[in-house]
Amino acid sequence: MRSVIVIGGGISGLAAAWELRGRAEVTVLESQGKVGGKLRTGTIAGITVDEGAESLMALRPEAVELATAVGLGDALCDPAPSPTAIWTDGALRPLPAGHVMGVPADPAELAGTGLLSPAGLARLAAEEARAAQPLTEDCSVAGYLAGRFGQEAVDRLIEPLLGGVYAGRADRLSLRAAMPRIAALAEQGGPLLPALRRMKAEGAARPAPAAVRGVSGGTGRFPQAVAEASGARILTGTAARSLERIPGGRWRVRAMTGDGALTMEADAVILALPAFAAAELLRPHSPLAESELSAIPHASTAVITMAFSRARARFLPEGNGFLVPPVDGRVLKAASFLSNKWGWLHASAPDTFVLRASVGRIGEEELLRRPDRHLVRAAIAELHHAVGPMGEPLAARVTRWDRGLPQYGVGHRERVRRIREAAAKLPGLALCGAAYEGVGIAACAATGRAAAASLP
Ligand SMILES: Cc1cc2nc3c(=O)[nH]c(=O)nc-3n(C[C@H](O)[C@H](O)[C@H](O)COP(=O)(O)OP(=O)(O)OC[C@H]3O[C@@H](n4cnc5c(N)ncnc54)[C@H](O)[C@@H]3O)c2cc1C
Repeated sequence: MRSVIVIGGGISGLAAAWELRGRAEVTVLESQGKVGGKLRTGTIAGITVDEGAESLMALRPEAVELATAVGLGDALCDPAPSPTAIWTDGALRPLPAGHVMGVPADPAELAGTGLLSPAGLARLAAEEARAAQPLTEDCSVAGYLAGRFGQEAVDRLIEPLLGGVYAGRADRLSLRAAMPRIAALAEQGGPLLPALRRMKAEGAARPAPAAVRGVSGGTGRFPQAVAEASGARILTGTAARSLERIPGGRWRVRAMTGDGALTMEADAVILALPAFAAAELLRPHSPLAESELSAIPHASTAVITMAFSRARARFLPEGNGFLVPPVDGRVLKAASFLSNKWGWLHASAPDTFVLRASVGRIGEEELLRRPDRHLVRAAIAELHHAVGPMGEPLAARVTRWDRGLPQYGVGHRERVRRIREAAAKLPGLALCGAAYEGVGIAACAATGRAAAASLP
C-alpha cells in the first residue's frame, strides 16, 4: 500500500484523506490541537455554537455528499426560511429571492425595498437595453458590474454579499473567480438581466434546493466525522516545517510537535494548507509556485458570538440576520441570528438567544486591531441601531480568523493554473484548499478529493 502524508487537517485535507481510505496509508498532520481549521465549534454560556463556518453551501453537491457519506446525513438541516436582509439606510431591507450574489433577476422586485434610490433602480433596470460584447478577459467585479448596473447597485446589492462570503471588495475580487455564474453569462455576451431571468425561470421549474444547509450540533462536527470515517492516522499538534525530496521519488516531512521534532517519509504528500503556508513548504522545490502562492492576499475577520437571556433581553430580533454594505461605514459586515436560524440550536438552549456578528473585510485590518471588548461594544451598539435595544449579553466571545479568507483577485484563475502547472512538475505532490477553486466548504472538499485522486 502507498503511504501519503496530508499536511493540514482542515476540511480540504480531511476530504483528501477520506478519498484515499482503503487505498493508502494516510497520516494527517495538523498544527492545531484538533482538526477542522475554519470549521470549529466552541461553547458560549454552556451552548455549543459554530465559531467558524456555520453552513454548507448546498447549491453545489460536494459538501452535502461528503457529510452524508461520513454518517451525518440525518444531522443535515435547513435554516429557517427567511429572506437575506441588508441593513442599510437605517433599516433592514429584504433582498428579493432568486438573486445571484446580490444581482436580482427582476429589478421590479426591488421597488419598495428601499435598497436602491429611484435613480439607482432605474440605472439597474436599464441594463437590459445596453448592448454587451462577450467578456474575454477577467476583470474586477466592480469593473464589469458597475458598468452594467451602476455603482449604486454594486455598493448596495453586491458588496454586502462579497463581504459576507469572501470578506472581499468588489473593486479587488475577480469576476471570474468570485462570481463565476455571472462571469459565465458575461462571457456569452448580451445583457445580464434577461439571462438571469431565464436562469430563474428554469430553476423555478425544478424544486428549489436550499442554498445552504447546516449540521445539527454545529458544522464544526463535520471535520471530526470525516477524520473518523477516513481511517487515517491523525496527528494533531504537529506542524510541518519542511519538505524534502528523497531518493526513490519519495518525500520526507519534518514537523514539530509538543514533544519535539518528528520526521516522516511517504510516497506522496498533499498540501492542504492556506496559500501562505503551502508557499513556505514549496520554496525549495518551486520558486514559481512559492511566489504565486505568496501573492494571494488574505482577509482577516472576527466573529463576535453573544448569548442573551430571553427572559431578560429587552428585545429580540426576528429573521436570520443581515448583511451590511461597506458604503454605510459600519463596523459590522454581517450578523447571523443563530437561535432563529437553526432549529437545533434553539432546541438545545430554548431560554437563550444566540447570535453572531462578523467584522473585517480586506483593507479593514485597522478595525481588527481593536481589543475584544471594543469589538463587542461596537457590535452591541450597532445591533441596537439595526434591530432594536437588546440589552446586555450574558456572555460574549470574539473569535479571530487572522488571514482566514483568501482573496481571489483579478487573474486568480490564471494564477491557479500556473501554480498547478508548477506543482505538476513535482511528482507525488498535490495541492488542495480554499486558495484555489472556491472558498466554500463544498469547493474545499472537492479540491481535497481531486488532489487525492490525482496521485498516481
Ligand atoms: C469566519 C469564517 C466563516 C466561514 N463561513 C463559511 C460558511 O458558512 N460556509 C462555507 O462554505 N464556508 C465558510 N467559510 C470558508 C470555509 O470555512 C473555508 O474556506 C474552509 O473551511 C477552508 O478549509 P481548508 O481545509 O482549505 O483550510 P483550513 O480550514 O484553513 O485548514 C488548513 C489547516 O492547516 C493547518 N495548518 C496550517 N499550517 C500547517 C502546518 N505547517 N502543518 C500542519 N498543519 C498546518 C491549519 O491549522 C488548518 O487546520 C468561512 C470562513 C471563515 C474564516
